[in-house]
Amino acid sequence: MSSLFDRKYNCPVCQKAFTSKQVKTSAIRAKERKKDFHTIFSGENPTFYGIICCPDCGYAKFENDFKQPLSLKQVEVVKATILKSWKTQDFTMERDLQSAIKVHLIALVNYNVLKERQAIIGKLLLRLAWFYEELGQEDENKKYLTLALNAFLKSYEQEKVDEEEEEKALEVIYLIGELNRQIGNYKEAIRWYESVVRHEFAYKNRLIKGYAKEQWALAAEEYSLSKK
Ligand SMILES: [Zn+2]
Repeated sequence: MSSLFDRKYNCPVCQKAFTSKQVKTSAIRAKERKKDFHTIFSGENPTFYGIICCPDCGYAKFENDFKQPLSLKQVEVVKATILKSWKTQDFTMERDLQSAIKVHLIALVNYNVLKERQAIIGKLLLRLAWFYEELGQEDENKKYLTLALNAFLKSYEQEKVDEEEEEKALEVIYLIGELNRQIGNYKEAIRWYESVVRHEFAYKNRLIKGYAKEQWALAAEEYSLSKK
């Protein structure tokens, strides 16, 4: 039996209805969870299907964002940019690493033309880094880790968060540390892990606080090895 099923969507840009494959919850098997939230799955990878892309106009976003209504102005922006250069591509069927990369890149263009928050753009760039890691393409992995890091830094510096979002904000600070460590900026990484551990809301997110302590120790070890 297939581990995929069809879910219905309505495109908020061109109004077309279509179905797109998703992984059945019962078929999701996590094999390993990495410290940058990258999960390795045995069997179908639900991360591949995180983006919904309208085959008719090219509007593409994370599933939850795709379901949100757009303002008339936003619809015009997508039509004038994405749809204008769109050549029909179908991402509604089964996906592999290559098609997952393509559909995430299309979503990236959508988020950029709509000038969406850097926190969500960072999340998208981080997923691209994971896909290249799974492909064993180290240069592309580094490139997207660095782009994700820059987006999270911009988010930290420029984007306001409500009090309820403080836990999410802590995740961004933690990821700035973790991505710095992954690209070899150990001292910088330690500074960010430390600000997670000492953050006034660290008690609200014990998982992240625990990760930060663990990765802080790892970065310190890697830093001393890099000096030898
Ligand atoms: Zn559409």
